[in-house]
Amino acid sequence: MLLFVFFAVLVWYGSFQGRRRLGGLAALAGGLFVLLMVNAVHFRIAQIFEYEELVPVFRVLLYPYIVMVMCVGLFLVTLPIDLPRGEINCKACRYDLTDLKQEVLDGDPCPECGATLAEAATRKGRRLARKRRHARSKLAPEPVAGLTLGLAAHEPDEAADDQHEHRQASDEDPLNRASAVGVHGLDDRQRGCIA
Ligand SMILES: [Zn+2]
Repeated sequence: MLLFVFFAVLVWYGSFQGRRRLGGLAALAGGLFVLLMVNAVHFRIAQIFEYEELVPVFRVLLYPYIVMVMCVGLFLVTLPIDLPRGEINCKACRYDLTDLKQEVLDGDPCPECGATLAEAATRKGRRLARKRRHARSKLAPEPVAGLTLGLAAHEPDEAADDQHEHRQASDEDPLNRASAVGVHGLDDRQRGCIA
């Protein structure tokens, strides 16, 4: 039964990846076709093994499932592609190069993926640049915001700990004296309480 979940995710992934293109629609149509075939083949098997009267029990689940796969798939396939917005973009990674226009036109590489204009112009160059970017992000992952926050918060924590210890030491001082010398050791407020 988990297979149906994986199948749906697979179809939706295809629909999303190929959204607004023929590929996405083809993935969705292919997925729905497979499901309809499963339905038909299952009915045929039921006929052979003579349990047709139980098939509606299966279909009660299968038909809503097919409709769900179709609806979510249609939604995903119509999602917009995030088109590059700037004046000039890296053809390999879509990085906005508007501010670096002159440098890039002079032959500098894209700061995001390292592809030059000439490299990004060819399919092979784009693939290479994408691979390089992937490898680089694996080697040196972007610092995680939570982690740096945690590190930054650690130092004041230590300072606070020191302060706390210091305060505790001074707090304990009069107490120790009090226990050592009895009522005479208490400060004015404590003496007042007893009186
Ligand atoms: Zn790039």
